[in-house]
Amino acid sequence: KSDDLKGYAPICPPFEDFYTRRIYHRIQDCFGRPIASAADAWIDVVERHSNDNDKTLRRTSNTSRCLNLGSYNYLGFAAGDRYCTPRVVESLKKYASGTCSARADAGTTKLHIELEELVARFVGKPAAITFGMGYVTNSSIIPALVGEEGLIVSDSFNHNSIINGARASGATVQVFRHNSPSHLEEVLREQIVKGQPGAHTPWKKILVIVEGIYSMEGEFCKLPEIVAICKKYKAYVYLDEAHSIGAVGKSGRGVCELLGVDPADVDIMMGTFTKSFGSCGGYIAASEEIIQHLKHGCPAHLYATSMSPPAVQQAISAIKVVLGEDGSNRGAKKLARIRESSNYFRSELKKMGFVVLGDNDSPVMAIMLYNLAKLPAFSRACLRQNVAVVIVGYPATPVLLARARICISASHTREDLIKGLKVISEVGGLVGAKCLPAEPEKA
Ligand code: PMP
Repeated sequence: KSDDLKGYAPICPPFEDFYTRRIYHRIQDCFGRPIASAADAWIDVVERHSNDNDKTLRRTSNTSRCLNLGSYNYLGFAAGDRYCTPRVVESLKKYASGTCSARADAGTTKLHIELEELVARFVGKPAAITFGMGYVTNSSIIPALVGEEGLIVSDSFNHNSIINGARASGATVQVFRHNSPSHLEEVLREQIVKGQPGAHTPWKKILVIVEGIYSMEGEFCKLPEIVAICKKYKAYVYLDEAHSIGAVGKSGRGVCELLGVDPADVDIMMGTFTKSFGSCGGYIAASEEIIQHLKHGCPAHLYATSMSPPAVQQAISAIKVVLGEDGSNRGAKKLARIRESSNYFRSELKKMGFVVLGDNDSPVMAIMLYNLAKLPAFSRACLRQNVAVVIVGYPATPVLLARARICISASHTREDLIKGLKVISEVGGLVGAKCLPAEPEKA
């Protein structure tokens, strides 16, 4: 083969390691199954058969109806909504599906402006800017804010889009221990000459990047402590609210509202429309100056096609429902439901003896399986009983911290949750995932 490539390395390195190949083959069998329905509480999962002889995964045309514990459909907007869907259909008729242009050219519709004003108002910042993808928002914005003379201090569990943005910026990147304000302070003190708070030399600027809810754990960021440290050391705060915006806080405004942090103390608020709002795209909300700077200097604004208009309309309508501006109190009900369901599900799992990560009120929770080899077994046994869960292992987590990750949605009914718990309990017993003593049944 290398003769064909005239001495250059092949574009895809050969997947040589027999054991790695077998494990990946097994895990792929459970991951990434096509879905033949909207990402609602129940989904139609396309069945797959692995063929050990020719190492291929065969899809069939059969689907199974499964309880969906895997999608980030926190507020239940993913399968359409009586307020959102008619408006999305209207926007599709008026604007069609693509703008065929970058924001800075002819890709700004009236809807984009409306969404940006709404987002700014919703999160409590003076201005906002939107992008076609949440991933690109991080990976393209971070380099537009900090360059080679800057320092980025990043939580060790930050999302891959943040890691790539930080690397692409050319800034020096220091990683602090996950959600540890004291280690953040240690890193900042070390990096600032002689530990003088406020003396930024040798850095032109310092950006501290954290997430609202860490998506593999379901933990909230220790934002009040982190903001206080950033103030002390004059570092800018960048908060990724992909999983928290819309999902937590009394009125869905994310971790600032939940943890009592003034949005003015968070310099850059990043979020996505892909989770709580059932759409796609990402945003940055910040001061007028920062947003103007991004409009002139961010490649994703200048060179990438803008958000699809129906997706913009979906985000606008969903935020309006959350704010109660659709004329109903459905938003408040959804928020109450997701909080109640998440807390119920988490406490029941703990009672069964699972090690569960994540904070109360967070719709994301991780059931620790520890052993990588248990992932496919757990996922397949759940699927066999029509429950779809996401399994997560290396490289998304450390090798020994493999887990199943559950996302609760406001569209799950109590019966759905009871079914999910029953199956997870059985399967957890089967694969030996109940590591703690179970609570005795109450009479
Ligand atoms: N940030 C975080 C914390 C995420 O978890 C994700 C994706 N799950 C993104 C950014 C990227 O967002 P999107 O999927 O909307 O592109």
